[in-house]
Amino acid sequence: MPHDEGMSAEWNYHPALPLQNPSIFRWPMDPKFLMVWFVRNWLMLSERVMLVILSFAAWYFCYPSLETAQSFAFGWIFQTWVVNMVLMCVFAGGLHWYFYMHKGQGRRLKFDRRDQAKGNALWTFSDQVHDNMFWTLTSGVAQLTAFQVVTLWMMANGYAPTLTFAENPVWFVLALILLPIWSAFHFYWVHRLLHVPCLYKRVHALHHRNVNIGPWSGFSMHPVEHLLYLSTFCIHWIVPSHPIHLIFHVIYQGPGAAMTHTGYEDLLVRDKRRLALGTFYHTLHHRYYECNYGNQEMPWDRWFGTFHDGTDVGKERMRTRLKTRKR
Ligand SMILES: [Zn+2]
Ligand SMILES: [Zn+2]
Repeated sequence: MPHDEGMSAEWNYHPALPLQNPSIFRWPMDPKFLMVWFVRNWLMLSERVMLVILSFAAWYFCYPSLETAQSFAFGWIFQTWVVNMVLMCVFAGGLHWYFYMHKGQGRRLKFDRRDQAKGNALWTFSDQVHDNMFWTLTSGVAQLTAFQVVTLWMMANGYAPTLTFAENPVWFVLALILLPIWSAFHFYWVHRLLHVPCLYKRVHALHHRNVNIGPWSGFSMHPVEHLLYLSTFCIHWIVPSHPIHLIFHVIYQGPGAAMTHTGYEDLLVRDKRRLALGTFYHTLHHRYYECNYGNQEMPWDRWFGTFHDGTDVGKERMRTRLKTRKR
């Protein structure tokens, strides 16, 4: 039975259920839907457009140039690490401050009733937020920087194909639109791999201790998961791109993960939904584990039968699937 958005026994807030399919790959293709998707994501000041603007600014003002990156040297590698550290702290720290310390919108649009956990030995330092910060700012930022540095060095030396806006303006713009779609594709398969029991137990369980998620949970992963998750950047080793694409990709995967794990659906400004900062789709994954491995960008979960639409029927369907799998 469909439910309007609101409260339930399980959730402080849930969107209208069953979850609709907002994927641009849904079939049959609907040109009007595609137009709306494009306008909303790329012709308005959306989360993505903001990240692109930030990427341009970071490339011109913060990160080292291609010439500098021609040979490995401590200076520019350290500079890249510092910028990533600052971006991570501003994104995750800023969102955490707004939603959980300042309590900027109270519990409005917050999925889970609980607050972040404290005094529980499950967590490093017995504190969920400190635990999440630890994994994010050590292994997370280090590996993010490592991938970025190696890729930039490859671009600077002609080992990775590059392009400029002047050479190919169409592909330059198209690549920005395609990167999140590529990322969603890569994420789904890496994530399914991480749910293979032996990898799950040793690696992915660390991220999944966050049943009730917050901004710092997004990029809080085991080092092996960071490695797999960030291997999405290898696309730049094969497909021509510009350092700005790489930076956009870096911000999208790293600091951007804080934006998809706030525990809230949207940021409200004067009671209007202004920014999408979390999805019920992935929140369901954190609550029920064996469903919704991907995100809404790609319909993989629907195609491969791992979709949970948030309703009791969806939950039952997931249980039946797990039972038949175990047999
Ligand atoms: Zn997650
Ligand atoms: Zn998972």
